[in-house]
Amino acid sequence: MKKFFYTFGNGEAEGKASMRDLLGGKGANLAEMNRIGVPVPPGVTITTDVCTLFTERGSEETMQMIWSDLEKSIHHIEQLTHTIFGDKENPCLVSVRSGARVSMPGMMDTILNLGLNDQAVEGLAKKTGNERFAWDSYRRFIQMYGDVVMGLKPESKEDIDPFEEIIEAKKEEKQVSCDNDLTTDDLKALVTAFKEAIYQRLGEHFPTDPWQQLKGAIEAVFKSWMNDRAILYRRLHQFPAEWGTAVNIQAMVFGNMGDNSATGVAFTRDAATGENLFNGEYLVNAQGEDVVAGTRTPQQITKIGSQRWAELQEVDEATRASQYPSLEEAMPKIYNELDAVQQRLEDHYCDMQDLEFTIQEGKLWILQTRNGKRTGPAMVKIALDLMDEGKITEKEAVMSVDPAKLDELLHPVFKQEAVAKAEQIGKGLPASPGAATGQVVFFADEVAKYEKAILVRIETSPEDLEGMHLAQGILTARGGMTSHAAVVARGMGKCCISGAGDIHINYKNRSFKAEGCEMKEGEWISIDGSTGLVYKGMVATKAPTVDGNFARLMAMSDKYSEMKVRTNADSPRDAQIARDFGAQGIGLCRTEHMFFDGERIKVMREMILAKDVEGRCKALNKLLPFQREDFEGILKAMEGYGVTIRLLDPPLHEFVPHQEAQQRELSEELGITMEEIQNTIHNLEEFNPMLGHRGCRLGNTYPEITEMQARAIIEATIQLKKEGVDARPEIMVPLIGTVKELEMQVDIIHATAKKVFEESGMEVDYQVGTMIEIPRAALTADKVAEVADFFSFGTNDLTQMTFGYSRDDVSKFLPIYLEKGLLKNDPFEVLDQEGVGQLVRMGTEKGRSTKPNLKVGICGEHGGEPSSVMFCNTVGMDYVSCSPYRVPIARLAAAHAMITQKKRVNETK
Ligand code: PEP
Ligand code: MG
Repeated sequence: MKKFFYTFGNGEAEGKASMRDLLGGKGANLAEMNRIGVPVPPGVTITTDVCTLFTERGSEETMQMIWSDLEKSIHHIEQLTHTIFGDKENPCLVSVRSGARVSMPGMMDTILNLGLNDQAVEGLAKKTGNERFAWDSYRRFIQMYGDVVMGLKPESKEDIDPFEEIIEAKKEEKQVSCDNDLTTDDLKALVTAFKEAIYQRLGEHFPTDPWQQLKGAIEAVFKSWMNDRAILYRRLHQFPAEWGTAVNIQAMVFGNMGDNSATGVAFTRDAATGENLFNGEYLVNAQGEDVVAGTRTPQQITKIGSQRWAELQEVDEATRASQYPSLEEAMPKIYNELDAVQQRLEDHYCDMQDLEFTIQEGKLWILQTRNGKRTGPAMVKIALDLMDEGKITEKEAVMSVDPAKLDELLHPVFKQEAVAKAEQIGKGLPASPGAATGQVVFFADEVAKYEKAILVRIETSPEDLEGMHLAQGILTARGGMTSHAAVVARGMGKCCISGAGDIHINYKNRSFKAEGCEMKEGEWISIDGSTGLVYKGMVATKAPTVDGNFARLMAMSDKYSEMKVRTNADSPRDAQIARDFGAQGIGLCRTEHMFFDGERIKVMREMILAKDVEGRCKALNKLLPFQREDFEGILKAMEGYGVTIRLLDPPLHEFVPHQEAQQRELSEELGITMEEIQNTIHNLEEFNPMLGHRGCRLGNTYPEITEMQARAIIEATIQLKKEGVDARPEIMVPLIGTVKELEMQVDIIHATAKKVFEESGMEVDYQVGTMIEIPRAALTADKVAEVADFFSFGTNDLTQMTFGYSRDDVSKFLPIYLEKGLLKNDPFEVLDQEGVGQLVRMGTEKGRSTKPNLKVGICGEHGGEPSSVMFCNTVGMDYVSCSPYRVPIARLAAAHAMITQKKRVNETK
């Protein structure tokens, strides 16, 4: 019989940190904290296996299976807290929280104070001698349970939460501004009003039996694993549904028992910048969600944090010290304890921790710890600092940076001169750095309507996840540095300003008022997540300058990787950018991109419209100098490294004009009739251009095109050699399916080179290879390798042809396939290792079987995607090639791949 429940409490635990797959991150860490003596309220974790059972067999059967264990676990909590679940006089109250192996914002989060009902609340009041606290806890419980378990939500998105509406009405009636100013009688009235609202709107009574409450809460956690938001989050992060979530049931401790109680959230280092500074927020006489929800202004934990906050918010020192003192100042003894715990936790986990704590009548409790989410720059800084502090090794530092997060270090920033001219309309907390410009949108489900949107909300919630992901940036009026918006945005690497108090949002009018202006939906604003400043209109951005940490990390990565990283670049400028990011060569130069500029496209069209070989050659001769110049530039920019230049690939139809006006212009220029032009264009039309007259089929039917391109490459190399430049061209034939197709191209290239050598009296080195992008080429790779110096896997086409999905039409069904779980990922983004990967592996192995030193690389989009890079490493590729800005990502992923691979080999030894 499997064990489904793992208890913890009083310094003992059945689980431990390494059991996160079974206990979820939260459960595993609660157990671990018990083991290392951190004060944690007792509780129990229901394993992720139960979630899987729940999804497969449904609620009734699962609940029956676990019920007696559940009763025993609650008894464990009762014994350690000397309370009784469901008792009228001495009630045992618990929290119920979800906890997957990675934290997932889309899921049901927390129910607090479960176990209260009309009798138990009286008992709690009597036992604690604190009637207000008891009723405050009860109203919070009904509010949370009514929302997340029973589903009482706002009727429309413009409406506010129904419970908040009742509270607001009460506050207005009593003329108070803060929840904490409501009296016990007011809270009692809220309880009645909440229960009435639930009954009226949902037609069911609020459950009074604590066991029924508990069952409802557990079911809600398991169900939330399969809700749309959680599914979306998993999809974005490529987490499988099979993981499931655990449920944690834990004895309550109360931060709302008066002025010597509090609750807060803290980070052992700065999650936005990585600075080694303990920081966080807390609220006196408050419970759980209050800090994150941002309904009251949270106070800072440390004095230095508080002073920085005051400076940003333009609060003077006297007001700060009296109204918003830090925990360090307000409760120094507890602060010292917390400081010691945070240090201990960071040392224990060897990583930056994000922790939740509650202070109940002067006693500190830790409710959660986890590795904190952080921005890309913070991730790099923390990894290097921890290494420098001797807490982790160099290898661990490399492994602790997620390659995908490096992208954030390369995000644009505002141009200084543009900022100086921009009109500032608001100010908030710099919650997640970066610069973003977009149109104002108030509702997450409308973000997709705009190409660039800034999501402006009073505060965000897990429902807004998809919109946050699509938006350029997020601006909230409420909430601190630990608000939902701030934490999620940092995790996504999205620019965010939180708590911009001078921004007053009116959802109904779809506008917000800010300093001296009103901004309506659709109007443009710009936000700077590094300074917290909001500007009217669009502010120009520029590429960032990467700092020393970045360079250091890259150098460290290169020590561990074996695969090289090249870039896909078609211009000297892109080649230079990529080289600055550490690219060691060009893996794909798509020559067709060079034909679109100014004069060139005209000559190209002349070539396409030519009636015979002679006419084509005439036009190609005009193209030759352009091509030579392009190749000189690009080979020079990559001096000393291989540059793979691909011969013309796309169907010719892509180069001809489709609008009548342009056709007319061409007709006048070339002296050809409109009719002739339109006839040729019509003749170039294909039913299936991707499978039509393209790739090497062009060069094999019009050899003069290959001749011209080969000549341009060889002449450019000779010219560079004369200048003393070490140019290393690799000529690549696209889209071959049979070895004969390649042979014909290779012959043309060699013959052309020979001719050029004779003409110039000089020889240069060059290689000739091929793309492997048609399944047949992979299947016959042993033969193909006999005539190729190198292979480059074109996994864009290889995916297209292996799946039979048209690259150009896939968007019609792919989103639905992803939603229905028919596909885990977009195979054009993440290499399908199971299917397409087999062809890549087979192609490499077969190729090397006839040519052992065959150079193999990849140049499809997958060359910059971390999991695909890992795969390429296991296949034994020499290099991956990706767009310039993805080069650092691929370099780090290549190091991860090698470290992981070596670890696996060692483990199996
Ligand atoms: C490929 O097919 O993977 C490739 C790199 O070529 P293109 O995307 O230009 O077809
Ligand atoms: Mg291709």
